[in-house]
Amino acid sequence: MSDQKKDSFVTEITPRSEDFSRWYLDVVRRAEMADYSPVKGCMVIRPYGYAIWEHIQRLLDKRFKDTGHVNAYFPLFIPESLLNREKEHVEGFAPQVAWVTRGGDEELEEKLIVRPTSEVLVGTMYAKWIKSWRDLPVLINQWANVVRWEKVTRPFLRTTEFLWQEGHTAHETAEEAEEETLKILALYKGFAETELAMPVVDGVKSDSEKFAGASRTYSIEALMGDGRALQAGTSHNLGQNFAKALEIQFQGRDKALQHVWTTSWGVSTRLIGGLIMTHGDDSGLILPPAVAPYQVVIIPIMRGNWKETVLPKVMAIRDELTARGIRVKVDASEENSPGWKFAEWELRGVPVRLELGPKDLEKSQVFSARRDTREKAAIPFDGLADRITTLLSGIQANLLARARQYREEHTSEVSTWDEFVAAMAGRPGFVIAAWCGSADCEAQIKTETQATLRNIPLGSPRIEGKCVKCGQSAGVKAWFAKAY
Ligand SMILES: [Zn+2]
Repeated sequence: MSDQKKDSFVTEITPRSEDFSRWYLDVVRRAEMADYSPVKGCMVIRPYGYAIWEHIQRLLDKRFKDTGHVNAYFPLFIPESLLNREKEHVEGFAPQVAWVTRGGDEELEEKLIVRPTSEVLVGTMYAKWIKSWRDLPVLINQWANVVRWEKVTRPFLRTTEFLWQEGHTAHETAEEAEEETLKILALYKGFAETELAMPVVDGVKSDSEKFAGASRTYSIEALMGDGRALQAGTSHNLGQNFAKALEIQFQGRDKALQHVWTTSWGVSTRLIGGLIMTHGDDSGLILPPAVAPYQVVIIPIMRGNWKETVLPKVMAIRDELTARGIRVKVDASEENSPGWKFAEWELRGVPVRLELGPKDLEKSQVFSARRDTREKAAIPFDGLADRITTLLSGIQANLLARARQYREEHTSEVSTWDEFVAAMAGRPGFVIAAWCGSADCEAQIKTETQATLRNIPLGSPRIEGKCVKCGQSAGVKAWFAKAY
């Protein structure tokens, strides 16, 4: 390893409290998650970051398959005329579309867009494939990349090209489409909380924040370590809007020709940004074991004849843990000191570090350090795999509990506009307030405080309140925050 590389690790990461956004970029770069590409706004996802994405894909894909969905792949290019079919959709996406106008030397007869999302293309195919109620439901997901021309970008959170999954389903009835939309929202919430240890608020978006062309958009919203919210996933009930625009029709049980009801839903590499900002600290990343590229790193203490004594035991421990399905990295490189390695693997957020030296070997034990609490303990060789398995699930649970507690401490409820302004200025986080349902009030709130309406949580009771902005009668309480 070059001296230059060593130096870059020795250099401190900007403390979170000093400059959160600098801290974020430092962590992304130093943990080798991603790097900037020659094209402005695009990022290269490096192997350590991509390994996290692979775990996200694997775990989500299982949940999709378990609920009856199948994967397919649709092309990257969409003809201009197709995008124009759904009016609200084209208005929503046109400003961010990348165009292909030439193929080799020839000007194209019809311009193509690089997909920003695939509703119109998928819908066009569904119009060909769906003939009868017997063909329904269609439950297809695709893992793909999309392009949205962004002016201000930040690795994982907002980039011109990003990776995601987009589900597209078609149903016989409005009820079934709504059921699917909510089923996926619950699936996303379960995944975010169980595997990413990231608590989320699941609810419905206001009309002004809904997906272009949707009847109703639901989202999961997480709270980041700087008190800003992150929309971590969305599920859209598209009603018959796309079915009518694209003529997706089927013969019903009563033989009458009718339009299908469709949904679409997605999460992206943005989740990785969410992970970093939910759990990380001044030493770098803290990864939940479920998606950590390495769950355990073993560092041999290089003393005396360690290669003949310590190293074989380290390898035996690695094999024992690997056999139990634990992802293990052994760092036996000789050019770096153990202290340097501790800092490096801490920076990369590995949940458990094990150290083994000649003295530990004599005592038949290994020394462990948790990344989340920094607790240290000696663990006997006997029963080690069981102890590590328990330790990893303890870390996973602790990260979720900690993030929940943080969210509770950063959520407040207000009833007057003065309180709202004070809460948004002083202590960022979620602020709950009654809202009349008007887009004007929502826009004014945003202009005056930078806060946006994140969502109205599912199961929110109807209230008889007064809108925090205009004082008119309000039937619901909404969750507001400054957001990414
Ligand atoms: Zn109002």
